[in-house]
Amino acid sequence: MDNLSMNIQYVKGVGPKRASRLNKLNIKTIYDLLYFFPREYEDRSQFNTILNTPIGEKASLDIEIVGPSKVLRPRRNMSILKVPFKDSSGYGYLVWFNQEYLKDNFNIGEKLKVNGKINKIGMEYQVMNPVFEKNSTDNKVGRILPIYPLTKGLSNNEVIKIMKSALNHYLEYVEESLPRDIIEKYKLMEKVNAIKNIHFPSNKENLLDAKRRLIFEELLVLQLGLFIIKNKSYLNNKGIKFESVGEIDEFIKALPFTLTQSQKNVFKEIQDDMDRPIQMNRLVQGDVGSGKTIIAALAMFRCVKSGYQAAMMAPTEILATQHYESLSKLFSKWNINCKLLTGSLTQKKKTEILQKLKDGDIDIIIGTHAIIQENIEFYNLGLAITDEQHRFGVKQRAILNQKGNNPDMLVMTATPIPRTLALILYGDLDISIIDELPPGRKEIETYAVGPEMIDRINKFIEKQILEGRQAYIVCPLIEDSESISLNSAEELYTILSNTTFKNFNVGLLHGKMNPKEKDEIMEKFKEHKLDILVSTTVIEVGVNVPNSNIMVVYNAERFGLAQLHQLRGRVGRGEYQSYCILLNYGKNKIARERMRILQSSSDGFVISEKDLELRGPGEFFGTKQHGLPELKIANLFSDITILKLVQKEALKIMDMDKNLQSSKYKVLRSQILDMFKNLGDDLILN
Ligand code: ADP
Ligand code: MG
Repeated sequence: MDNLSMNIQYVKGVGPKRASRLNKLNIKTIYDLLYFFPREYEDRSQFNTILNTPIGEKASLDIEIVGPSKVLRPRRNMSILKVPFKDSSGYGYLVWFNQEYLKDNFNIGEKLKVNGKINKIGMEYQVMNPVFEKNSTDNKVGRILPIYPLTKGLSNNEVIKIMKSALNHYLEYVEESLPRDIIEKYKLMEKVNAIKNIHFPSNKENLLDAKRRLIFEELLVLQLGLFIIKNKSYLNNKGIKFESVGEIDEFIKALPFTLTQSQKNVFKEIQDDMDRPIQMNRLVQGDVGSGKTIIAALAMFRCVKSGYQAAMMAPTEILATQHYESLSKLFSKWNINCKLLTGSLTQKKKTEILQKLKDGDIDIIIGTHAIIQENIEFYNLGLAITDEQHRFGVKQRAILNQKGNNPDMLVMTATPIPRTLALILYGDLDISIIDELPPGRKEIETYAVGPEMIDRINKFIEKQILEGRQAYIVCPLIEDSESISLNSAEELYTILSNTTFKNFNVGLLHGKMNPKEKDEIMEKFKEHKLDILVSTTVIEVGVNVPNSNIMVVYNAERFGLAQLHQLRGRVGRGEYQSYCILLNYGKNKIARERMRILQSSSDGFVISEKDLELRGPGEFFGTKQHGLPELKIANLFSDITILKLVQKEALKIMDMDKNLQSSKYKVLRSQILDMFKNLGDDLILN
């Protein structure tokens, strides 16, 4: 391994300057380089003949030069070089634009391999701007050519050269990482061979085999790493055994509603964790509106009544503030001191809260990222909850973990994930699912319509407002380059508040406002001082204003289905019939089909699976959002079949050797450490 961890600059043909460019691509060591995989391939391996290749397609040809090169000058600043050739099917020309300098390369009677796009002008066949190869060691034609992700000052050809040099000198030091039995069972390509073929595949079949092997390896490393993190927190982390708290029954009885069966089951699972002297690491998954907040409240109640502090972290100030308001009200009768900590507090107020937290005068702290900042100390943190966990990474949870003496960890998410994926995305957590909505919820009526309906929609909003309701109008976030045809929240706000809805109170909410402004607007909306809130997706998570019963989403085709489902969850929270109107500006079939899914289903799991099907993997959501390490070759969605095999094997390995002590896992271990290095070593092996 040592040779492979050498600095990239010592590879023949690299040097300091290229090394610094490679560094930009995150390539620091020789090992990094070998694992720097092509982004795609250009298949120049298929030979054809000039007359048999469909016009407009690329082909590799075996040709012979049959005449002298000619240079034409149809215009100033333009030259066309034409070289006549024949192949086994007929005659044609190699044609280059503005590359006159090539003209002395070709001799009559010379045989070449070329690759380029075939064109036909009149009766004349042409190969446009072809690459050509005079001797077969060039490997430009007749091969599958790797195309690498590049950075400024580094061409694909340079990377190819560097890669060849690295493979020549260092491939022999690469050690097999997968155990023999697994390689044989799944007929996987050997590692050395796979690395060679992923860069310079000798044919298509070998390329596929190389990919499959490397995907298998990467997923195994990921899954084992996650299992190890999980095991570590279970086996090594003793946790708090909380007292049983009789008052909890009274607390539940005093709630304004009865818990659903699903809520009861999930809370039972949490209670079981709290009963045991081990650390809880639990994910509560439940669709929008399924009532996760109250579950958090119950757990915090027991924690505090057992004499510990609890913390709850939310991804936005709006959500943190809302949780604070509803929870402090809920806890006020129970002598529980609950405080809000966000970035927008004054320094004085912050200092005061920090001191009280440290002294144990505050029982529950609710806030944003602010509560995991370095300077925050707890007196005795017993339970840490993160809401809408898909916005938090494994790492942030780990930091929170270290704020206490192995506090119980509870994460809440509304992001529905197909079962198979939960194991990897949340592989380090136990999972509880709330799969039922509180009773009496009216189904939200959802309509997908075109922009020609805007006037009617506005009339409808007006009617509802006159009946005392409120409305959300949501616009997509705008990326600067493509803004022209989209509706921006600011513009729409200006128009609506001055024209259509000038007799109503309209507010604007977007991500660029400072937290204080956001809070004020949200507060006004909650207090019904605003009838309409024009907003970007900042209201996506968690916001709860039961009196608002209409949501209109402009440019709905721009959003992910899961995201629209989240947004839609902002209405339908009260006793009124609610409406979600999706304004679809998209003309294509997929856009319409996607809108139809939302119209016909209110089940988050169904919606996310359909979305995945239609949009394809990758777009659905990135691994980054989940705080997982970045994957180089595997894709959690398209490689789901391999993932299933990997999970089976990973579980077996964990069963036999949960710390991967055996020497046959030596290389795997180092790969796991490498993949998870950003999490800090102490989290993983050793
Ligand atoms: P989410 O799961 O999306 O976070 P919330 O916890 O915000 O959902 O709950 C949504 C709404 O449902 C809140 O107004 C909450 O008070 C209410 N709620 C929660 N549980 C129940 C229940 N068992 N019966 C009736 N209403 C409930
Ligand atoms: Mg919530």
